[in-house]
Amino acid sequence: MPGFESFGDLERKEVQDVLDSGVLMRYGFDTMRNGHYKAQSLEQELQKTLEVNHAQLVTNGTAAVSVALALAGVGAGDEVIMPCFTFVASFEAIMMLGAIPVLVDIDDTLTLDPEAVKQAITDKTKAIMPVHMCGSMANLEALKTIANQYNLKLVEDACQAIGGTYKGQYLGTYGDLGCFSFDFVKTITSGEGGAVITNNPEYAKHADYFTDHGHDHIGNDRGAESHPVLGYNFRLSELHSAVGLAQVRRLKDFVAIQKKNYTILREALSAIPEVTFRTVPEGGEESYAFLSFFLPDLDIARKVSASFKNSGVDACFHYYDNNWHYVRKWDHLKDLKTLYPVSKEVKDGMSYLKNKSFEKSDHYIGRNLSCLIKLSWTEAETKKRAELMVEAIKASL
Ligand SMILES: *Cc1c(COP(=O)(O)O)cnc(C)c1O
Repeated sequence: MPGFESFGDLERKEVQDVLDSGVLMRYGFDTMRNGHYKAQSLEQELQKTLEVNHAQLVTNGTAAVSVALALAGVGAGDEVIMPCFTFVASFEAIMMLGAIPVLVDIDDTLTLDPEAVKQAITDKTKAIMPVHMCGSMANLEALKTIANQYNLKLVEDACQAIGGTYKGQYLGTYGDLGCFSFDFVKTITSGEGGAVITNNPEYAKHADYFTDHGHDHIGNDRGAESHPVLGYNFRLSELHSAVGLAQVRRLKDFVAIQKKNYTILREALSAIPEVTFRTVPEGGEESYAFLSFFLPDLDIARKVSASFKNSGVDACFHYYDNNWHYVRKWDHLKDLKTLYPVSKEVKDGMSYLKNKSFEKSDHYIGRNLSCLIKLSWTEAETKKRAELMVEAIKASL
């Protein structure tokens, strides 16, 4: 997945343009910037690459989720349904808005279980937020049907699956809004960065205002612009945008390399009858950022995970025992350890977490290993890795 494996002259050239003019901010300073608008160019490149009408850059993926939900009208006391297997950013971004994260089970796609979503809907539910974990997607058609039926917004967190598609559309474009991260370990990186994409012109207009203190960006005197709505600052610098611009142009190449390496590993593991793979919803094509598979039970998964580490197979995650990606280790959330007071609505709305069990998710996450697919592996290295993985698994069964 990590684009940082592959920095080169393309990134260097874009950054040099910015250093040459010295204009590090995306807005204003028109006469100084030698015609370089890296943030704007990156947005246009994202629109073209992901075949979507609007892309709004933000400071990171967590901000992208908060901004997308804000655009969707999610706020104080509203409930957002999200999966219990995701990065902590998902609930952080919801809580920043004073809203309530409602965690529900995943299924064998390793993403939101549509049945669990249905059961979690209340009169406070405002949005459904699938997270396309580890390079593959939720059953978006089923989720959209539910969203339409209950008049909810569908916000896709595609931070880990940029370049994947569903029924011919890029991930992030199927719902009302899509979110991306360009942090240092994502497929495309700008060091830090993120984006919100949408085909809805109203959301696009508000994204432009909201991410820059409410500026309407009309005219060429920032101080004289008006503020149609309250905003905040989620602007990305020109330096970050320059790196992202070079990287996004390489997205399709990166995904092709990931697919090639993924396929070598998958074919090798397919020879082991005890290994099964995550379900990819019909009509979906992964971004191949990870290879995710299931072992027969939790004990074997733990054994294989340890054995991978011993034999030098790095970057394979057993998320069941991981502090950051699965509800089992999120005591700080369950205990609401915030630095500042939260509303009674949020406290009451989240008390369910103290006692809620996630047996269905335990069943999948306990048995799952997800292995990062790197861009830098040679074919020989990938084949060697496949051999080591097969040996480690067979020895643990
Ligand atoms: C990385 C990530 C985020 C947050 O992105 P940052 O840019 O690190 O803030 C959000 N959701 C998912 C699923 C992620 O993997």
